[in-house]
Amino acid sequence: MRKQIAAANWKMNLTLEEGLKLINEILEAKIFMETKQEAVFAVPFPYLIGIENAIAKTPNFYVAAQNCASEKQGAYTGETSAQMINSINIPYVIIGHSERREYYHETNKILVKKINLALANNLMPIFCCGESFEIRQSDNQNGYVQKQLAESLFHLSAEEISKTVIAYEPIWAIGTGLTASSQQAQEMHAHIRKVLANKYGSVTAENISILYGGSVKAANAVDIFSQPDVDGGLVGGASLNANEFITIIKSLKKTQ
Ligand code: PGA
Repeated sequence: MRKQIAAANWKMNLTLEEGLKLINEILEAKIFMETKQEAVFAVPFPYLIGIENAIAKTPNFYVAAQNCASEKQGAYTGETSAQMINSINIPYVIIGHSERREYYHETNKILVKKINLALANNLMPIFCCGESFEIRQSDNQNGYVQKQLAESLFHLSAEEISKTVIAYEPIWAIGTGLTASSQQAQEMHAHIRKVLANKYGSVTAENISILYGGSVKAANAVDIFSQPDVDGGLVGGASLNANEFITIIKSLKKTQ
């Protein structure tokens, strides 16, 4: 069984005090996690060490960076390298979130550099893909997502791509309250898995976790996560509320 992951994406929200309070409320819930179920917290850079310390003793809880630099090291003021993230024992990094693609002009080509640096520094990338409303309206989403995967990931070996998590996040569903129906999510996740199987074989494809993102909340998590090819979610807004995210973690599929 592949990993089932509830990933919180705090984006640029919360002070350190608010973030620690949120984490502590979630820890206090003492959620029972099965083997291969994970809760991942993608927090702002200044909080990585603090949140990592807070969750260190809790099995199956991990911290993620929200981004990493496309260059290895050097004179890039304001950037944070994959090596730096690894050096503070953070295991995950989000790569290619649609907000990074849109506001910071990250192209499929730039994301190749980030993916390579993440893997070279033992970080597991959570690679985001997903189409805009216009592309969905014209029914071109399958080809569009396939191109994102091919251009940013398909240079990887089977072993390398096995260390990658994919997050399908239709842009029209992010932060809008509009959620893809569980059927729309399943259709795209099955498509992504088929594309991965064609390139890497079905054994590799079956073992890659594919998360859904876009207005996941406590009220819809069970419905979405129960789809056969949906292996959890990447959650923005609802991850900022302890009770919401606790319920979302508890909505992960059973792995035993
Ligand atoms: P949302 O964000 O849950 O607020 O829609 C998801 C994301 O951008 O990862």
